[in-house]
Amino acid sequence: MILLDGKATAKTIRSELKTEVAKLAARYGRAPGLAVILVGEDPASQVYVRNKERDCAEVGIASFPHRLSANTAQQVLEALIDRLNADPAVDGVLLQLPLPDGLESRPLLERIAPEKDVDGFHPKNVGRLAQGLPCLQPCTPAGVIELLRRYDLPTQGKTAVVVGRSNIVGRPLSIMLSQPGRFGDATVTLCHSRTPDLAEQCLRADFVFAAIGKPRFVTCDMVKPGAVVVDVGINRVEEGLVGDCDFEVICSTASAMTPVPGGIGPMTRAMLLRNTVAAYKQHMGALAPLTLRAHA
Ligand code: NAP
Repeated sequence: MILLDGKATAKTIRSELKTEVAKLAARYGRAPGLAVILVGEDPASQVYVRNKERDCAEVGIASFPHRLSANTAQQVLEALIDRLNADPAVDGVLLQLPLPDGLESRPLLERIAPEKDVDGFHPKNVGRLAQGLPCLQPCTPAGVIELLRRYDLPTQGKTAVVVGRSNIVGRPLSIMLSQPGRFGDATVTLCHSRTPDLAEQCLRADFVFAAIGKPRFVTCDMVKPGAVVVDVGINRVEEGLVGDCDFEVICSTASAMTPVPGGIGPMTRAMLLRNTVAAYKQHMGALAPLTLRAHA
């Protein structure tokens, strides 16, 4: 079985980006800039934001953190996003979710300028993704596709089952897998909690993608021998972090599989950096408008 090492792959991507950023910064006279808005004291979000700042520093992206108290008003956040949208030193704007109770994320996400939407959550980017047009892609599904690309595991002509239909993982991943391309062109089934025959659906698949949020939910008897299994799940259990797939047993059946941790998590972080550099290049005119990567 091939272990799809997201940690090592993400390190390679960061090193490639570092080289690219150094050249671009010399040419354009400034580094790419990523603004991260963190509201409140959620400990997991604080760790995520710290990691993002560390990743940015490693590749030469300037990070502009905005740490705000949990009782910040919606209008204050709106004004901050407007300011960042207009700031020429900022290429990407990221609103760390979840927000504290009382704040509404949807209107804020829609307020971020689509060309600075490095999370790929703005409806304009999501709509363009669905239509196969160039856009900023959501980082987690982009990380999944990039990992398959780096291991040369094309999905073209294969059957793929995605379990989970969230807007940040499962649904965009199903869209990307169905777009034309070597790492698309799959026949995709999108499963969710109302799928009556989940095990049978998974058993048919050449590729199984799990984004459920339930520890070790996908078991060995749900995976066809030789299938590729990508586990997006991150669940905290007593022993530590585990995925949505029962790694220990599935790894004897699958031909390739991601570990948790060390699989899609680091790839997601790497794709945020890649999106920031892409947004910067477009901002600086190094890319013609709307020539960001369309699909696989
Ligand atoms: P989410 O919004 O809670 O969505 C979970 C999806 O799983 C829903 O579509 C849900 O179906 C489906 N589901 C739940 N129980 C199911 C069942 N018994 N059978 C079939 N489908 C079921 O979660 P998410 O944000 O997509 O995250 C999923 C997992 O990925 C979590 O563990 C999260 O921590 C992890 N994650 C990892 C990364 C990363 O960087 N690696 C990034 C984001 C998320 P319904 O729609 O019918 O409710």
